Amino acid sequence: MVIDSGLQGKVALVTGGGRGIGRAVVEMFARDGVDVLFFFLGNTEAAQQVVAAVTGAGGRCEAVQVDVTDADAVGTAVEQIIDSRGRIDVLVNNAGIVRDNLLGMLDDADIQAVFDTNIGGTFNATRAVARHMISKRSGRIVNLSSVAAGKGGRGQSNYAASKGAIEAFTRAMAVELASRKITVNCVAPGVIETEMSQQVRDLADEQIRARILLRRYGQAEDVAHAVWFLASRFADYITGEVLHVDGGFKME
Ligand code: NAD
Repeated sequence: MVIDSGLQGKVALVTGGGRGIGRAVVEMFARDGVDVLFFFLGNTEAAQQVVAAVTGAGGRCEAVQVDVTDADAVGTAVEQIIDSRGRIDVLVNNAGIVRDNLLGMLDDADIQAVFDTNIGGTFNATRAVARHMISKRSGRIVNLSSVAAGKGGRGQSNYAASKGAIEAFTRAMAVELASRKITVNCVAPGVIETEMSQQVRDLADEQIRARILLRRYGQAEDVAHAVWFLASRFADYITGEVLHVDGGFKME
């Protein structure tokens, strides 16, 4: 018996889909029959590889070069998607960056870039997409937070603040959009084996693993499964929540 997630034939937009968790989300959705579009920043070759992998496996996928910090570019791209697909059913705000350093060593640019991308990008895409979801009286928004939002991490003040803001934004949007039948939730990954976490894994491999109850790093697919769940009909009655995908990550 096939279990129907309710996602087949839906249109999803994933920001930062060219690699890592975003790519895994794109591939997961496409496997479930979703028509997936994703924004990528600059690596056209990587984006084309994702599209080729998905379409080669029989899925539907399109890559659009958009910097999520550019509100006008996000707005224009979303309008083009609406023109071509008629709707966006699922938005995944995944694009994110780290610029880790102790507070005294952080320069203004490191702080601003993290805020502009992580929380600014989430605002830009949500504002552009939500009005179309409102007119359809349905939609799913899933934002990528982090274990850093809830647990202190040395050298992560800018990143942690941006992810805490994403969780607060998620709860506020859940309240604003509930009457329009739009759910808004977060997935908060722990340490996932992607390029983003490479440096910290190289620096403190054993100490980090010792704090993870399951004693292993997560895979991008572990996070994609949670995003898929929150986008699916199985999460119809969940909004304003944070789903932790961290193997039981504990800080001292
Ligand atoms: P990654 O660095 O591998 O991928 C991030 C993607 O976002 C890249 O494709 C990048 O090009 C894109 N991106 C960055 N800035 C952008 C911009 N301005 N416009 C458009 N795209 C942009 O990182 P990842 O590990 O796949 O992380 C994905 C999300 O998960 C991020 O929000 C991150 O903060 C979060 N997260 C990751 C981890 C982890 O351990 N990897 C842990 C917690 C949370």
